[in-house]
Amino acid sequence: KIKTEDQVPGKEINSFLSLAEERAMQQAEKIDGMLKAGENLPVLAGVPIGIKDVLTMQGAPSTAGSKILKNYHPPYDATAVRKLEAAGAVLLGKLNCDEFAMGGSNENSAYGPVRNPRALDRVPGGSSGGSAAAVAAGFCVASLGTDTGGSVRQPAAFCGVTGLLPTYGRISRYGLIAFASSLDRVGPVTRSVRDTATMLSVLSGPDPMDATASQTPVEDYVAATKAPVAGLKIGIPAEYFGEGLEPEIRAAVERTLDQLKAAGCTTHPISLAHTKYAVPTYYVLATAEASSNLSRFDGVRFGHRVDHPKNLSELYKESREEGFGPEVKRRILLGTYSLSSGYYDAYYRKAQQVRTLLARDFLAAFAEVDAIVTPITPTPPWKLGEKTEDPLSMYLADIYTVAASLAGISGISVPVGETAEHLPIGVQVLAGHFQEAKLLRVAQAIE
Ligand code: GLN
Repeated sequence: KIKTEDQVPGKEINSFLSLAEERAMQQAEKIDGMLKAGENLPVLAGVPIGIKDVLTMQGAPSTAGSKILKNYHPPYDATAVRKLEAAGAVLLGKLNCDEFAMGGSNENSAYGPVRNPRALDRVPGGSSGGSAAAVAAGFCVASLGTDTGGSVRQPAAFCGVTGLLPTYGRISRYGLIAFASSLDRVGPVTRSVRDTATMLSVLSGPDPMDATASQTPVEDYVAATKAPVAGLKIGIPAEYFGEGLEPEIRAAVERTLDQLKAAGCTTHPISLAHTKYAVPTYYVLATAEASSNLSRFDGVRFGHRVDHPKNLSELYKESREEGFGPEVKRRILLGTYSLSSGYYDAYYRKAQQVRTLLARDFLAAFAEVDAIVTPITPTPPWKLGEKTEDPLSMYLADIYTVAASLAGISGISVPVGETAEHLPIGVQVLAGHFQEAKLLRVAQAIE
């Protein structure tokens, strides 16, 4: 049991925002009792797991990395949280993240940035930076993150761990504090593809509390990781290997492709022609949805309320002014603008149309190939503070992750080595909707 703040191991990494000691101890004792009674143990029995702070969990606050939810203690568990505990996991507490999952470096958290355990002067990626850092540092065996535009895959790549983007609808979003509902997905961060498969088996399936959670049958993902990959066709999209990709990352992806060929896969050049529109499309749609979703934080129903407002309008304005950080405000402004009647057709509707084109690119590709291999990020993790003054350069770093998010397909980030400076490199594998079995099979072959 941790008694004081200072005893928290690895405190400088700042990955945990709160610990759910009581709940974790109860669960550990329960599992211990089962063990002593000689009962059959569930698949995650005793496995310590951390939860991104945008997911609700009773017994701990859910701040979503925001000041506006500082004292929010949710009275219910997210479905993903409930399922992990039912499978025997010991839930340690809540993990730091960018405010409302908006960011790619974890520097937008109201509770301070997370440091990359592999290089303390570097960002861990984001928005699930705490989830990736805690697994990389060994504070927990696995964690839950969320991926709206790359937020599980990119921090996994930056911290040298494995991160899954399940198909939209594969894992229930009930209890996930919404950023952009048509894009938000819960995904596990782990230390191996095999662990990812185990987590996915536990987390997947329909949920009466989330109408978008799919009825598509859950497969045996662990068995899938043991199947050979010989004969699988791997697509290499030209658009993901253009300008701005650091040579060391390109070389790592090329080594991965050689590895797959040696295992009997064939590689095929493909084109995902609309890729160059993915970042602008994502930032129009994600901010539009965010501006709508975040209207519930009004100082009345949830979270922070300003002291002594003069009237109702001031109560709304001042509570939001004090509660939200600069990146969240920027996005609410952008989203409100593109949804406004004068600009809706030019931005929001247009972006929805381009989203369909991006999805069609992938559908056409998956008619020809089984999986696609690409980089996750154009560069290795950057230094803390390096991009904070330039939000646009931060947005552009999402170039390889957001198209898969817009298309709803499955993806995974697998660590494949490091740069000369010992910074981790991840490779992305993408597969079609509900093709997680095939995705994990390919991922296992490159691990
Ligand atoms: N970096 C992207 C953004 O800032 C992705 C965030 C996410 O996936 N939650 O929106």
